[in-house]
Amino acid sequence: MFGLIGHLTSLEHAQAVAYRLGYPEYGNQGLEFWCSAPPQIVDDNIRVTSATGQTIKGAYVESCFLPEMLSQRRIKTAIRKILNAMARTQKYAREDNEIQITALGGFSSIIFENFNLKENKQVRGVELDFSRFTTGNTHTAYIICQQVEETAAKVGIDLSRATIAVCGATGDIGSAVCRWLDKKTDVQDLLLIARNQERLQNLQDELGRGKILGLEEALPLADIVVWVASMPKGVDIGEIPLKKPCLLIDGGYPKNLDTKIQQPDVYVLKGGIVEHSLNIDWTIMEIVEMDVPDRQLFACFAEAMILEFEQWHTNFSWGRNQITVEKMEKIGNASRKHGFNPYQLSLGN
Ligand code: NDP
Repeated sequence: MFGLIGHLTSLEHAQAVAYRLGYPEYGNQGLEFWCSAPPQIVDDNIRVTSATGQTIKGAYVESCFLPEMLSQRRIKTAIRKILNAMARTQKYAREDNEIQITALGGFSSIIFENFNLKENKQVRGVELDFSRFTTGNTHTAYIICQQVEETAAKVGIDLSRATIAVCGATGDIGSAVCRWLDKKTDVQDLLLIARNQERLQNLQDELGRGKILGLEEALPLADIVVWVASMPKGVDIGEIPLKKPCLLIDGGYPKNLDTKIQQPDVYVLKGGIVEHSLNIDWTIMEIVEMDVPDRQLFACFAEAMILEFEQWHTNFSWGRNQITVEKMEKIGNASRKHGFNPYQLSLGN
């Protein structure tokens, strides 16, 4: 059985979901309420069938973490949310089913790494076994790279002449995307964007290429922008001039881009999303407003499913900046085999 630990994107989102699910008394509650709410097993009867015919079962655990907890410096609460959700998932047992592998979605893995939670093994009487958790970032990075390659061709961008800016380049996903673009494509130029200059310098040294630039300098030069920064709230880039055509792939959760950009020849694609070839028996993707909620999901969640299909009960993605191109290929091949495909731009829209 696989597990998925997720969270909503903002307090406003959490309130709207509470109303929608028929809990109006929670819909009026402020951040304090969400700070004290324990993790919830929202659905433990998820069934996913692979393109090979194999079916697996899984559970979705809502951690009740909200990004405002970081922006309002409720760090201890944020940490407690993630550790409690991990302990709840590990402790789960029903009808002899155990959750063998769980994806830490969205900010869960970022909080785990940023606050070094591997030191906190004992949680509410449970000794956390980290080999049962995966960040899902290897699959996410693979899917974003596939989206770059496939969509560039669709919108008339030739990678061999293109400049790609990666916002969040030094992160776990961003650095993996840079490695792939460097080794597996003939992209002309890479622009590396993040705040910490030392980490940017280390990445540039590792790649042996790439220009370090600020967001405002980089965006007007880029044919493609990959957004994978861990921003609790999106940024508005409405005032920054963009190339035409320009492809913006927003892989952040919550989204890195604040407003819907509607300019001719500027294409915005949801990044790090896969579409399964068969319907999945669940409702949780309606809550995060996927266009096709029966089939579309976050690539990190799909990683836990793939590991369960393959019986690779191991923390396939773990630690920071250790994702190799070889591991991306391995998870990518398994992803295709089980019927997951990168979400694509529909040019009719
Ligand atoms: P990391 O924390 O490892 O990396 C974040 C990167 O963003 C770093 O390079 C950081 O560098 C940079 N960054 C943070 N804030 C800013 C800012 N204001 N301006 C510019 N750069 C910034 O995160 P991950 O790689 O694990 O995740 C990246 C994003 O992907 C997150 O939004 C996450 O929720 C999302 N995600 C999506 C998944 C999916 O399935 N679609 C799965 C997992 C994650 P610095 O601090 O130096 O600025």
